[in-house]
Amino acid sequence: MSEISTSYTFNAIGAYLKEKMGRKIVKLSIDGGFTCPNRDGTKGTGGCIFCSAAGSGDLASDIPSQVRLLSDKWPHASYLAYFQSHTNTYAPISELRCKYSQALDYPGVVGLAIATRPDCLSEEVLDLLSEFNQKTFLWVELGLQTIHEETAKLINRCYPLKVYDQAVAALSARGIPVVTHLIFGLPGESQQQMLDSVRYVCRDLSLDGISGSDNSRRCPQRIFGIKLHMLNLVRGSQMETLYPDYVSFQSIEEYIDLAVAALEIIPSEITIHRLSGDAPRPTLIAPEWSYKKRTILNGIHKALKDRKTWQGRLAK
Ligand code: SF4
Repeated sequence: MSEISTSYTFNAIGAYLKEKMGRKIVKLSIDGGFTCPNRDGTKGTGGCIFCSAAGSGDLASDIPSQVRLLSDKWPHASYLAYFQSHTNTYAPISELRCKYSQALDYPGVVGLAIATRPDCLSEEVLDLLSEFNQKTFLWVELGLQTIHEETAKLINRCYPLKVYDQAVAALSARGIPVVTHLIFGLPGESQQQMLDSVRYVCRDLSLDGISGSDNSRRCPQRIFGIKLHMLNLVRGSQMETLYPDYVSFQSIEEYIDLAVAALEIIPSEITIHRLSGDAPRPTLIAPEWSYKKRTILNGIHKALKDRKTWQGRLAK
């Protein structure tokens, strides 16, 4: 990773996948038709207060539609089927197996990314994920958002931090790569608290005594990746009613400063899956600039260069 440390940049998942697979890999955002236990009353009702009606997958659809949408831009790419909307391990095992297999059988699909809640990983689900992990490239994305219990209650996450820790331990012991999703700018959180969340999820897992292996796959020392973005206030979320005037960051510059500070403390081997939100413009209320993904990313690259810093420079 010394190459990264001298080039004032970060370990972007796109570049990682291109190097690993030898070609451009495009993520297809899939709505697998699942629901969420934080909406149907099993864990809670109403969902996390920031979540849109589409279960945080407003751009997701089915695989053929996604391929049609993206193949003109990247005609020679292969695909990763990203089960994004709602909770993608929340269904009977037979249904999960069928949906994951169908996605993997689609021409050009070379791997799976499965977004879920850490409290939806039963032994049977873990066994199924382990089975797929042995036959394809796979990661599991856990929506944590914050390590702080007070904020977790406020956003109606409906599970405590220890459930996330147990999920990371169980997945890691099976050699299944974990991507952790955090949100910056949740109500009441200071920037120090946000960076504390980053530090915590990026810690050395071996210090927690997490060990094990799955058919000789080594237990990873850290999570595989991290997904970060600013809180978007979107139409149809509970936040629209609870905090109608809420703006998580007053300016792009303020957000970029925090994103750079976060990158500096993320160890360089952890892949960066996102640094900006992806709420579509028609549903986005605030920050009104957050749809400008290219501007935000360019700003982060420029800030890293201007400040002569890089991902992992201050990591422990
Ligand atoms: S953010 Fe995820 S866990 Fe929360 S309500 Fe939406 S789909 Fe469910």
